[in-house]
Amino acid sequence: MIDLRSDTVTRPVAGMLEAMFGAEVGDDVYGDDPSVNELERYAAEALQMEAALFVPSGTQSNLLALLTHCQRGDEFITGFDSHTYKYEGGGAASLGGIHTQTVPVDASGHLDLDEVQHVIKRDDFHFARTRLLTLENTYHGRVLAPSYLAQVRVLCDQNNIALHLDGARIFNAAVKLDQPVHTISTVFDSVSICLSKGLGAPVGSVLCGTTEFIAQARRWRKVTGGGMRQAGYMAAAGLYALQSMVTRLREDHDNASELDRLLQGGRGFRVRTGWTQTSMVWIDFDEIQNDQFLEYARERGVLFSLTAHGTACRMILHHDVSRADIEQAAGVFRDWFSRKSEIVFSTQLAAA
Ligand SMILES: *Cc1c(COP(=O)(O)O)cnc(C)c1O
Repeated sequence: MIDLRSDTVTRPVAGMLEAMFGAEVGDDVYGDDPSVNELERYAAEALQMEAALFVPSGTQSNLLALLTHCQRGDEFITGFDSHTYKYEGGGAASLGGIHTQTVPVDASGHLDLDEVQHVIKRDDFHFARTRLLTLENTYHGRVLAPSYLAQVRVLCDQNNIALHLDGARIFNAAVKLDQPVHTISTVFDSVSICLSKGLGAPVGSVLCGTTEFIAQARRWRKVTGGGMRQAGYMAAAGLYALQSMVTRLREDHDNASELDRLLQGGRGFRVRTGWTQTSMVWIDFDEIQNDQFLEYARERGVLFSLTAHGTACRMILHHDVSRADIEQAAGVFRDWFSRKSEIVFSTQLAAA
């Protein structure tokens, strides 16, 4: 199966499995696991942040950041379709009593900063206390411009609010910009990175920030059930991911560009212009699609996914998809839509 649903579907490569098999472990809740400690040290150093915390998932990592930056009754600002707002089950509200203020996002994935400034609340007991802004980079595959990040930092400093990055795919952004990852991470007070997406680890994320911030996040990790014991087997996979799987992301980006090219000019759909910057290709449909489309592709060896309302498709390239796979996937995709237009055409003929 050619699986374009997500980069979370990647399986560990042989070298990663060997690293896991050979990992030295201890009880991480006691701080005794050398592999976890090494992963946290390595991640903090790579991102040039003081400290890091290994956690089971990106959702938990973002949640710990929210719980640490904000108290009950505080508010964070984020994009209207950001992961922290839309795809994490409302954890900020249900678990943290944290209010969310969303703002619009433009075609390049940037928040409207005038709007952000506008919604930051002044100190008044009518309002929730605005404490935090969170960004996402890459944002649905798009790389946030370094000049924009600098502007955001100034805005946060001027308003005395913290800045968190959901950097699930920060390495895709860094590779695309051809810069070390710390040029992005050091703009932020805290950063969450995913090891289990394009970097190919089976599970895990790392939250980075100041020593004090991470100490508090470590408390919240225990409270939310994320304290793990011999987690070193997973941390070893994560360390391998950071050391050996980052530079190859370029191949995924090249494959995404190629897929974008192969899908140009089709009937019944349009590739979103300017969105294919890293590992994702976004396609909007002229007509809503459903399971029939997914089933058609599955029978031909390709797994696609649809957005919630069936109006678009997001394809993600990753380690387990080759150049030949892309050609097959593009062929199946185009065939479905040309077959559809033939059916429509022949029904129209019949009706005429
Ligand atoms: C995947 C993802 C996360 C976290 O996901 P988990 O599945 O909980 O590890 C957070 N933010 C973004 C942008 C993601 O893509």
